[in-house]
Amino acid sequence: MKKNRLLTLIDKQLVGANSLRLVFAGDDLADFPEDQASGYVKLMFAAEPGGEIDPSQLENAAYFKALRKRTFTIRQYDAEQKRLTVDGACHSFGEPDQGPANQWLQQAELGDQIWVAGPGEKKLINTPADWYFFAGDMTALPAIAVNLEQLPQEACGYAVIEVLDFADIAPLARPDNIAIHWVVNGAPKSANTLLSDAVRELPWLEGTPAVWVAGEFEMMRNLRAYFKKEQQVPKSLVYASSYWKIGESDEGNKVAKRLDEKAEEQS
Ligand SMILES: Cc1cc2nc3c(=O)[nH]c(=O)nc-3n(C[C@H](O)[C@H](O)[C@H](O)COP(=O)(O)OP(=O)(O)OC[C@H]3O[C@@H](n4cnc5c(N)ncnc54)[C@H](O)[C@@H]3O)c2cc1C
Repeated sequence: MKKNRLLTLIDKQLVGANSLRLVFAGDDLADFPEDQASGYVKLMFAAEPGGEIDPSQLENAAYFKALRKRTFTIRQYDAEQKRLTVDGACHSFGEPDQGPANQWLQQAELGDQIWVAGPGEKKLINTPADWYFFAGDMTALPAIAVNLEQLPQEACGYAVIEVLDFADIAPLARPDNIAIHWVVNGAPKSANTLLSDAVRELPWLEGTPAVWVAGEFEMMRNLRAYFKKEQQVPKSLVYASSYWKIGESDEGNKVAKRLDEKAEEQS
């Protein structure tokens, strides 16, 4: 991750029923690189709930490490206007652990400031490929949307996307032959296979696809096994990443993710 930047929230809109589009501006974006959509930034929160970040400590490695950092896809970066846009899925309604990012997204008001690190590397699907298969939940939707916008017009395949509510379904700019399948799951906090079942039901097309899967940990593992083991898609054509984990904060997801990646490499 590069540079820490203090940014100001200048716009906040509800997109669908459960996603907030946030637009940030600030002098610290002066050297933000162009063409970063699908890359990511980390919203930073004090190590202790309710605490504030001490900017004079940000270069202190131990202090920085202890901060709670939450990853969000760069949905758009307007290099001319220096505007950074992310879409945050709202979650954990009524539960005790709301998560610092979820809380901040929902409560933030225009003019509020936040420390943001980044950008981090882009998450684009391997191109060219015979065809393309995307699958993910609302945390992956911003990255899937960017990917679909950037695919060549002749691209074909599927995008299967799980959302919390019918009102979260929205048109996505995409090549004509990429079919979008929406799965509505109002209770993503209980393990289920709705998304992976919908993926498995789709007819396999001719040739070898490039695959892009992200979202909840178990869902990702289920689909990674489907694509790599059952359908024998070569490793180099599969991006599969856990973006969050049921019952774990982001720190817990990262630990599980590291162990899982190690086991996957050895398998
Ligand atoms: C590369 C990358 C890109 C990402 N891009 C985006 C993005 O553009 N938009 C986006 O919304 N998210 C995105 N995420 C996921 C996001 O970082 C996590 O959802 C993160 O855990 C949210 O932090 P929090 O502080 O709200 O919750 P945490 O403190 O991490 O977790 C608190 C509780 O909330 C639960 N939880 C966390 N996320 C969800 C969820 N989505 N649904 C239900 N329960 C949840 C946890 O299981 C835990 O019980 C991305 C993750 C990665 C790795």
